[in-house]
Amino acid sequence: MLNLVLIGPPGSGKGTQAIRIARRYQVPHISTGDILRQAVRDETPLGREVAATLAAGGLVGDELISDLVQARLERSDTAAGFLLDGFPRTTAQAQLLDRLRSDLVVIHFAVPEQEIIHRLSTRRCCRSCNLTQSVSDADAPADCPYCGGSLVRRDDDEPATVRKRLATYTALAEPLIALYRSRPAFLTVNGKQAPDRVSEDLFRGIDLVR
Ligand code: AMP
Repeated sequence: MLNLVLIGPPGSGKGTQAIRIARRYQVPHISTGDILRQAVRDETPLGREVAATLAAGGLVGDELISDLVQARLERSDTAAGFLLDGFPRTTAQAQLLDRLRSDLVVIHFAVPEQEIIHRLSTRRCCRSCNLTQSVSDADAPADCPYCGGSLVRRDDDEPATVRKRLATYTALAEPLIALYRSRPAFLTVNGKQAPDRVSEDLFRGIDLVR
């Protein structure tokens, strides 16, 4: 059983590493942000409820997101574990998760704020395959190197929204990290390193504490 939780600011490389970790340890990657964005695109009742909050860079309510995660963790593919990316974001959400599952391995991605702002201003998402990458010229149109689809800036990566998301993250992450730091399976990874180095550190760390 491997119950992983990733905590890190937007642009910390969390999403990229989540895909690698999920593949290596064969656990489902559960990104609450991806679930909500998909609901907005599909115009489901949930999507209509959260669209304005996502566009503004705010957080959706604890109860709504906790119900969503609880329902997701009840699915059978989480029997041998899971990888949560973007949840918990608040101490109330962390308390709910503690009631649902124990033996969490919590990974904190540490990246300086200046680096985050630079990364997000050059981050683009492919309209077709949804993968994110960074572009060298923040103003020029570009195509996805994987599938040729067009790369666009995510609505919530607009500069004003990024500032709001970062401020929200900083205010909430500190108490969350304080809550988890004293646990035996808490890892901090230096997310400023190249992606392959981050993966190496992560795999080594997870293998040690699991
Ligand atoms: P992310 O891709 O994780 O940055 O999430 C994108 C957006 O989805 C956030 O800015 C929030 O509006 C919403 N969201 C995702 N996860 C949560 C959460 N655990 N609690 C509240 N809102 C969330």
